[in-house]
Amino acid sequence: MFDVLIKNANLPDGREGIDIGINGDKIVAVDQRIEAEAGETIEASGRLVTPPFVDPHFHMDATLSLGLPRMNISGTLLEGIALWGELRPTLTREALVERALRYCDLAVAQGLLAIRSHVDTSDPALVTAEALIEVREKVAPYIDLQLVAFPQDGYYRAPGGVDSLNRALDMGLDIVGGIPHFERTMADGAASVAALCKIAADRGLPVDMHCDETDDPMSRHIETLAAETVRYGLQGRVAGSHLVSMHSMDNYYVSKLIPLMLEAEIDVIPNPLINIMLQGRHDTYPKRRGMTRVRELMEAGLNVSLGQDCVMDPWYSMGSGDMLEVGHMAIHVAQMAGIEDKKKIFAALTVNSAKTMGLEGYGLEKGCNADLVILQARDPLEALRLKANRLVVMRRGKVIARSAPRFSELKLEGRPTAVNAADYAPLRPDEI
Ligand SMILES: [Zn+2]
Repeated sequence: MFDVLIKNANLPDGREGIDIGINGDKIVAVDQRIEAEAGETIEASGRLVTPPFVDPHFHMDATLSLGLPRMNISGTLLEGIALWGELRPTLTREALVERALRYCDLAVAQGLLAIRSHVDTSDPALVTAEALIEVREKVAPYIDLQLVAFPQDGYYRAPGGVDSLNRALDMGLDIVGGIPHFERTMADGAASVAALCKIAADRGLPVDMHCDETDDPMSRHIETLAAETVRYGLQGRVAGSHLVSMHSMDNYYVSKLIPLMLEAEIDVIPNPLINIMLQGRHDTYPKRRGMTRVRELMEAGLNVSLGQDCVMDPWYSMGSGDMLEVGHMAIHVAQMAGIEDKKKIFAALTVNSAKTMGLEGYGLEKGCNADLVILQARDPLEALRLKANRLVVMRRGKVIARSAPRFSELKLEGRPTAVNAADYAPLRPDEI
């Protein structure tokens, strides 16, 4: 007897026809054709059941602020930075909380149940940190929210940046952030990396820095970050977000850098939507893609997760809380078109990101939390291609979001009366 029994699921690892038994908030059985009573039976009908999507890089203090106080007319990073500078002094705790909660509603509908958000600590009033701490508590029943103390205007560059970041950590932010490429000099950037890693070591916290988000091939703060990680014994607790300059670096230098990153067990977090939008802006043609070396970093054995970064904020007017959109873009920008490539990209949206965030009980094995999503697609490749509809989103054994299957009625003489895009999957040998 189970509280919930999910029937006939396809799993991301390729297992098919799997039933999942749930009691309370845990998965207690995963097997073919489980014959048992259940309080509620949910038919997956050969569709993909996945652990929830995880976004390891986001800015929840800025999300959904598009249009406040005005639109980014040029669509450039510089106007976005100027806009955030105009908006920040007007932010109130109530407005920040309301926007963040509204975003989290969307995230749940998209099966996105764990988010790591950077929180701008540049304004000494720290209204952003206060608000996001409140949000972290409010959404805890349905979203695991981690907060990074992010000195967005520079740890050394902004007046009071050092003090504000430390006070934000005292208030209870979870992770030490940084932005070394935005400090005034390369030397200041390297010094900020060393100082921030020391803070993390002293406080026993993880590190997640915006690192080398620039097309400058000489921006090598990831090297310092890896070296300081090893120096302070922080292996496995440090993430490098963006690492965009690696795209433009000399190949010999990268051949030396990647082994150092491996030694430091750096988690790598590219943000393909934002990278393809914002990088290469100083190029004429050919224009660089400006995303880090995803394939090579994965092949080297580094844990690569993919982040969304922005949704409808001063820097990026698009986005929809859909991690499959992030994966879809990653496949294109990294040219990871092979079958195994796409499976790796799907993992980067789920298990790899969960590892980066250190989530416990994540997965679809016996004993894991009963957190899962049923998609209107039958495998990860189709889910990525279709940015598939989320039919059921479950958290700790309870359905917290549900969508009707998506299809269109057709009115064409002599043709079918309905079209379901998810039926257009490639045929398998046994179906031909
Ligand atoms: Zn970011």
